[in-house]
Amino acid sequence: MTDRTRPNREPGAHSRHKDTIVGHAARDPQRFSGMVNPPVFRGSTVLFENTATYEGRDPDDYKVMRYGVHGTPTTFALEAAVAELEGGHAAVAVPSGLAAITAALLAYARQGSHLLVTDTAYGPTRTFCDRRLTALGVDVEYYDPAIGADIAALIRPHTCAVYCEAPGSMTFEMQDIPAIAAAAHAKGVPVLADNTWGTPYFFRAFDHGVDVSIHAGTKYIAGHSDTLIGVIVTNPANWLTVRRSVADLGMCVSPDDCWLALRGLRTIGVRMRHQMQSALAVARFLEAHPRVSRVLYPALESDPGHAVWKRDFDGAASLFGVVLKPSTDASVVAMIDSLELFGIGSSWGGYESLAIRAKMITRTATPWNPEGPLVRLHVGLEHPQDLIDDLAHGLSLLTTQ
Ligand SMILES: *Cc1c(COP(=O)(O)O)cnc(C)c1O
Repeated sequence: MTDRTRPNREPGAHSRHKDTIVGHAARDPQRFSGMVNPPVFRGSTVLFENTATYEGRDPDDYKVMRYGVHGTPTTFALEAAVAELEGGHAAVAVPSGLAAITAALLAYARQGSHLLVTDTAYGPTRTFCDRRLTALGVDVEYYDPAIGADIAALIRPHTCAVYCEAPGSMTFEMQDIPAIAAAAHAKGVPVLADNTWGTPYFFRAFDHGVDVSIHAGTKYIAGHSDTLIGVIVTNPANWLTVRRSVADLGMCVSPDDCWLALRGLRTIGVRMRHQMQSALAVARFLEAHPRVSRVLYPALESDPGHAVWKRDFDGAASLFGVVLKPSTDASVVAMIDSLELFGIGSSWGGYESLAIRAKMITRTATPWNPEGPLVRLHVGLEHPQDLIDDLAHGLSLLTTQ
């Protein structure tokens, strides 16, 4: 049986490169007639040998097969592989990235508690906090993403968690997660982080003080724009808190989606390294373009978050923002609509490029008044020169406001 709680630092494993880990984690061909990959296990009922073993099952032992809701061998393989790659204790798969966020927050938030959330959190995270958690009597407070160690001053006796996301959704501000985590831990407060941009491949969250790392596996883990899935990875101390929350909410994922996500994960390293190089080429072209004011991408030397990114991350996602020089609304729409290689739509992390206007950005703790329109680009696996040519034509359509 695949043991989802297998620690990452077992003898031999810790010294291997993550490219080796991603290819070998959670594989057990002997169990599957020699097949390299675990098959898709469909199942609700799990049969026990006798009444004693059935009645003796431990409700908190989520690593044994006991009912389809709690996972199948396919689910367990995905969970084990993500946890090992990121250096966490264990992982649980959930139906979407947003489900991972809500299940994780509900594990900590309770009536009368206080929750600190970065002002640059993913929009639907904010909506969940404002529309659901607030209604349940949770005091949600948004903080400046650049707060660092000063988060200590915001922590109250009843603060239940600090929620981070680096870089910020749409605006890409980095956060000093180690400093935030040190301050939170000094007061006994756990740190949750949306690590969708960093991924388990480029940001080993647990090495930087995160207790609960949240992934929209929909993005780079699945990697092919064909799957919706979320994964929550925790350290040992927070495992049961989070795992019970997922169980209490009745969340489970189809084995097909787990299988697709695991297949995607096996190639996350080559895809992300390649996409990062292409994204840098595109970002550098944009940065030098006369119609562009600035590029919001921590991997660029010019980005205010570059030093923190370089210190903490092993690489960058191929998703970034572009603040244009002031331009008419109609010409920005014309620019995006003219692009032949960039699709217009939600999500990212697939093999194909995307472009959207980032218009609806809600902030309450910090200002966001860019000097021009903001466009968000996702760079896929196309050749970067073709993407640059496409963007060059699009930018030529912009007219000054
Ligand atoms: C897309 C996204 C999510 C949500 O993932 P879904 O699978 O679409 O629910 C969460 N966080 C971030 C940062 C995202 O970009």
